[in-house]
Amino acid sequence: MKSNALNFSGGPGALPEIVIEQTRNAIDALPETGISVLGMSHRSDWFYAVLAEAENNLRALLGIGQEYAVTFLQGGSSLQFAMIPMNFAAEDSSPPEYVTSGYWSARATAEAARVTSRTIAWDGKATGYRQLPELHELDIDPSAAYLHYVSNETVEGLQFAAWKSDAAVPLIADMSSDFLSGPIEADRFAMMYAHAQKNLGPAGVTVAIIRRDLLERIPDGLPAILDFRTHVAHGSNFNTPPVFAIYVLNLVSRWLRDSVGGLDAMQAINARKAQRLYNALDSMGDAVAIHAARPWRSQMNVAFTFGDARLDQAFVALAGEHGMVGLEGHRSIGGLRVSLYNAVTENAVDSLAELLLSFGKSRL
Ligand SMILES: *Cc1c(COP(=O)(O)O)cnc(C)c1O
Repeated sequence: MKSNALNFSGGPGALPEIVIEQTRNAIDALPETGISVLGMSHRSDWFYAVLAEAENNLRALLGIGQEYAVTFLQGGSSLQFAMIPMNFAAEDSSPPEYVTSGYWSARATAEAARVTSRTIAWDGKATGYRQLPELHELDIDPSAAYLHYVSNETVEGLQFAAWKSDAAVPLIADMSSDFLSGPIEADRFAMMYAHAQKNLGPAGVTVAIIRRDLLERIPDGLPAILDFRTHVAHGSNFNTPPVFAIYVLNLVSRWLRDSVGGLDAMQAINARKAQRLYNALDSMGDAVAIHAARPWRSQMNVAFTFGDARLDQAFVALAGEHGMVGLEGHRSIGGLRVSLYNAVTENAVDSLAELLLSFGKSRL
């Protein structure tokens, strides 16, 4: 059965229709091998080719060279919250600095504290995680091991406009929910990481792109599987990787390259989608409260409320009748959340914006 539902879920999120179709066929049998992708060996030539192509596609999309290692890992972004301080909070540098700007960066900050002492460079909790700092205005210890931040706060719907900072310390960003949504100045980062289930594919694989000089700081004695050097040395095939998730991620990277036409084109589409949704919400005036303060509104996740849980639920129910799903807000803040990941089409956003407007006229 083919789904006609429009998926606005915060994650796992929508995937391009063509990718779903290719995946459906690959579950029956891969054209190249004649057997199901679900039963393909991770030591097959076929899988080595998938790994190589996925890596090359990411390099081409982001414009990164061999000074970076591209790895495909497991454990989600949450494991990165632990691995990053284990690997990179070197003893001979000052504690790493963390920007705490929302639910996910707070999780990263808390996890780092289990591994190392760390400094909170900025904390948005007291103001309800509605705004972001200017990264270049933060007072960062120049000998800090690194500066960690989340480029897009998925729960609150906050996004850094310029995905960079001029801090002299290595910059590490969790890009889980806006990775490949538009071009970035990749060479400003010492490390970028993103799990697949928001913008890249199904859950189970996490992309970590690490500048190679950072690998030299890793202390000896870590468990092999938690040491980034292990995964670099084994080409992301140290133990059994999530073959299926990496296969689908590769299809998504092809789709971005061939159907969308790269990250500039993706960015233009995403900007139009976000504009349409925010215009609809803004036109409803005080009847709608958008969580993020205006300058930090995310193009990927839009968290808002009608100010009354019954109205929010009524809209979720109405949307469900129109085949629109995944609109409940994150359990930590409630309300509603629309996720506009790469695979959400402009038509889907138009339909949702229209429904919001008609709900506003009839119910508010
Ligand atoms: C969803 C999300 C996570 C959580 O990732 P898991 O893969 O579930 O561990 C971390 N960071 C951000 C920014 C997210 O959006």
